[in-house]
Amino acid sequence: MESILKVAGLKKYYGKGDTIVKALDDVALEIERGKFTAIIGTSGSGKTTLLNMLGGLDTPTAGSIQIGNTDLTKLNSEQATVFRRKQIGFVFQNYNLVPVLTVWENIVFPISLDGRKPDKSFIMQVVKLLGLEGKLDSLPNHLSGGQQQRVAIARALASKPSIILADEPTGNLDSKTSDDVIGLLKRTSREFCQTIVMITHNLEIARMADRVVRIEDGHIVA
Ligand code: ADP
Ligand code: MG
Repeated sequence: MESILKVAGLKKYYGKGDTIVKALDDVALEIERGKFTAIIGTSGSGKTTLLNMLGGLDTPTAGSIQIGNTDLTKLNSEQATVFRRKQIGFVFQNYNLVPVLTVWENIVFPISLDGRKPDKSFIMQVVKLLGLEGKLDSLPNHLSGGQQQRVAIARALASKPSIILADEPTGNLDSKTSDDVIGLLKRTSREFCQTIVMITHNLEIARMADRVVRIEDGHIVA
């Protein structure tokens, strides 16, 4: 199977001397294209640090991160920003929607930042799958938490990124809404062959993934 993501020798140390925190210590990981991977681990185990490195939001102390044919660690910060906008979709726990923009404007916002034209027919397919077609002119504050997270998922998928990174995307949702949102995320990603790496501490949700990776104290243990 083809790997979309290859991580080798990845380290992230915070601080130095006696107070050094080895948030990631020699992590190796390969992820197959089109698969849904869940990353689980206790609080403080290094999950967010890993996801931020994978998405080029932060730079590692050592190691390499290859996405497709690009080694993220070889890019300068400007190149990393451009790469991130085109190739990576992010979904965060608190949705991160822009409150003064409508649902549609939020969904196409990252694409317009890049000066690109949104693929409207593709985005409408995503919108329909996520059940948002009646909400496109609404402002985010007028939506429920589950609806807001579906907007964030539509935004992440809209630019057809090669990989979607989600950090506890259902952390603010009740369990029924969580299951629905993850079910939809899984369905859309399968439909459009997008790769998902999702952090969760919810084992029920992890069970919906194709593969579960466990991290403990900055090491991958399974
Ligand atoms: P998780 O997402 O699994 O809860 P994190 O990746 O946020 O874990 O954190 C892993 C470890 O790195 C923790 O010990 C945390 O305190 C530490 N850490 C995370 N970010 C920073 C930072 N910016 N400065 C110092 N230590 C940090
Ligand atoms: Mg975290």
